[in-house]
Amino acid sequence: MAQVLSGKTVSADIREKLKNEVKNMQQKYPGFLPGLAVVQVGGREDSNVYINMKMKAACEVGVNASHINLPRSSTQDEVVETVERLNSDSTVHGIIVQLPMDSENPIDAHLVTNTILPSKDVDGLHQDNAGRLSRGDLDSCVVPCTPRGCLELIHRTGIEVKGKRAVVIGRSKIVGAPMSDLLTWNHATVTVCHSRTADIKEEVQKAEILVVAIGKPQFVKADWIKDGAVVIDCGINSIPDATKKSGKRLVGDVDYDGVKEKASWITPVPGGVGPMTVAMLLQNTVDSAKRTAEMAGSCAKWNLQ
Ligand code: NAP
Repeated sequence: MAQVLSGKTVSADIREKLKNEVKNMQQKYPGFLPGLAVVQVGGREDSNVYINMKMKAACEVGVNASHINLPRSSTQDEVVETVERLNSDSTVHGIIVQLPMDSENPIDAHLVTNTILPSKDVDGLHQDNAGRLSRGDLDSCVVPCTPRGCLELIHRTGIEVKGKRAVVIGRSKIVGAPMSDLLTWNHATVTVCHSRTADIKEEVQKAEILVVAIGKPQFVKADWIKDGAVVIDCGINSIPDATKKSGKRLVGDVDYDGVKEKASWITPVPGGVGPMTVAMLLQNTVDSAKRTAEMAGSCAKWNLQ
């Protein structure tokens, strides 16, 4: 029976650590505050929920977060101008654009995320950061929040990543692809599966570490799992459940009840990867602010604000 790898507990631990880091930074550089800007276009209900979570968590650790909500009528040029303004705002150390954007006009999300200065790209979606990560330049890139959170959870098991066979299901820009890069450069031997993989079950059966990010409820079954595997489930799926007042409940991409009988460690949904994603957004923001403060501190009398 697997031990539960609680993102709720680990993320609370990280947020506490960040709170202290921010306090220390303020002692060293009086008046300095890490700043995060969250750009939203339109008002998707799910985006509102995610943004509220991020703003609340930022406030708790002492990050100064601002929410810039642009109307649905915004054009691509207006969104780009907003990002450029934030790029040159020295009080902002992290910028994210909440995706998907909810606009009446066509907006190229890649163009917008590539407008963010790579050093302020705390979602790690800029092509420079993605390129550096794929080359293994881990010290000079911003790692996307969900994969960074997954790796942190894997580290917390105490199981060494080096030399392990890892399988990642999914190859999206935000989760699957950076996750496989991160595992590769932490010296696992990585197989990536996707919608065209011929026999996923056969690939997954070899995994000592399995990360799943596909958005298909309870897709990975118990008989796919190698005994003792570490299973990280990024999926967030709502399924009907007549026993709940709301008539629905959240499940992951893994069949939790069956898989937990085979795995050594498993993340629950909810309370697994989700809270880690928010914690890592704050970690990336504090890291970026720290780089700015240290650079400024080492260069005589820079204005930090
Ligand atoms: P995505 O952009 O839709 O990518 C899904 C990936 O899964 C694609 O690479 C796709 O393959 C692959 N896939 C789809 N169906 C498959 C199948 N039947 N067999 C094998 N591979 C399949 O999704 P995403 O943004 O990566 O998100 C994945 C899940 O993670 C979602 O449930 C999302 O809600 C969740 N998520 C959670 C967090 C969090 O904080 N916990 C953050 C981000 C995402 P192709 O490339 O071949 O199309």
